[in-house]
Amino acid sequence: MTTPYDADNIFAQILDGRIPSSPVDETPDTLSFADINPQAPVHHLVIPKGPYADLTSFAENASDKELAEWVRGLARAATSAGIAQSGYRVVVNCGADSHQEVPHLHGHVLGGHPLGPILTRRD
Ligand code: 5GP
Repeated sequence: MTTPYDADNIFAQILDGRIPSSPVDETPDTLSFADINPQAPVHHLVIPKGPYADLTSFAENASDKELAEWVRGLARAATSAGIAQSGYRVVVNCGADSHQEVPHLHGHVLGGHPLGPILTRRD
């Protein structure tokens, strides 16, 4: 089921200029900018401009062009930050168990030093 979209979420406000941001990349369908609270030397967020609350909603409702542009935006964020060769991680939180905080799809592009294991195991 598609998650309803909150048009007042923080990234919607960045997209329409209510909150200032410093984009590092923009296409007709995507915007990329630095995370306000970076967890690695490079930490960029890549968002689609359309009203998609999470990855599930995006996969179910976005056009093929939007899907392709977002994926390319993720890789381009790494390339333009100079971490494509050294390696990077893309994280997409989706829903409550993932601790998704902002209900507008965003991919975290992280790198610039060794990132460690993907998850801390909870037994
Ligand atoms: P989530 O937990 O939803 O996957 O990640 C949300 C991310 O958005 C966090 O890493 C947080 O630091 C970032 N963030 C929250 N508010 C803002 C903001 O106003 N500007 C920017 N650039 N990043 C933000």
